[in-house]
Amino acid sequence: MEEFEQFKRALEARDFNALKKVRKTDLHAHAYLSAGMGTYQEISPEIALPPSKFDGFGDFRAWLGKNCALIERAGYEKVISAAFQRMADDGIIYAEMSFDYHDCLSMGLKITDWARLIQTQYEPYRARFALCPEFGISREVRPTVSQRYLEEAAETGMFRSIDLYGDELCRPASEFRNIYDLASSFGMKKKAHLGEFGQAADIKDGVEILGLDAVQHGVSAADNLDVMSFLRDRGTTLNICPSSNLALGRYRSLSEHPIRRLFDHGVKLTLNSDDYMVFGAGVTDEITRLHESGIFSAKELWQIVRAGLAASEGRS
Ligand SMILES: [Zn+2]
Repeated sequence: MEEFEQFKRALEARDFNALKKVRKTDLHAHAYLSAGMGTYQEISPEIALPPSKFDGFGDFRAWLGKNCALIERAGYEKVISAAFQRMADDGIIYAEMSFDYHDCLSMGLKITDWARLIQTQYEPYRARFALCPEFGISREVRPTVSQRYLEEAAETGMFRSIDLYGDELCRPASEFRNIYDLASSFGMKKKAHLGEFGQAADIKDGVEILGLDAVQHGVSAADNLDVMSFLRDRGTTLNICPSSNLALGRYRSLSEHPIRRLFDHGVKLTLNSDDYMVFGAGVTDEITRLHESGIFSAKELWQIVRAGLAASEGRS
């Protein structure tokens, strides 16, 4: 059966298992937060379940600080491996996952040993999906500090992309220009979290200043026609995670989420998981919810899935 037919039938029949088998991508996932909650409970039985709604980004960060602070090597390996397993089971054939170098520092590892650890955990899943490991840096850390670790990470030859996240409002994108220029010289794909809580204008500035290939979230672009046109005309993809946006209180409901508006304006979009541990929604869940809520037809959702597959083939 043709792939779109398989997708459409599974979606319309609400056959979740068949839908999982259709090829998809996940281009916005933070590795250490990408396993199911059960894995974290096995490691720390006292861990608190996340609330279904957070009171903004600060509340979310406080919850993470309380529940995900300590990283030991055995637990880290278990989480990374479970995250890979979950991705493969969700039909993900290509994943861009960010690995925060502070995880490496907390475990007391050298960057080279950390890269080897990730590679070892990935090995059993190599045949099931292609992994593009991203070097993850926080906005809250001075860019000159992160730059030193990026240079070491680039030498391992494993990290093929860079992502910037954390409190979007704490430092302007311009302070990261040097580190992104460096990432560019290493041939890395350039991505950053923008326009999740920041303004539409911040997205355009960030894309231009850092020379981004894709934006993580970028949902605020919907507030400004010029910014939407800029992204559309430049062909810049927004890697959107609706469940994350709702849980963090950015929008009150899926019907208020601007994904439809961005799509109608011709902005290239993909659907992604962000932090599966906290938000509990994989790519198949996101597709299902958008279809069941009547926001997109099967054909439109297939167009969004295809945009992710094109990125996996280096066409985006
Ligand atoms: Zn994210």
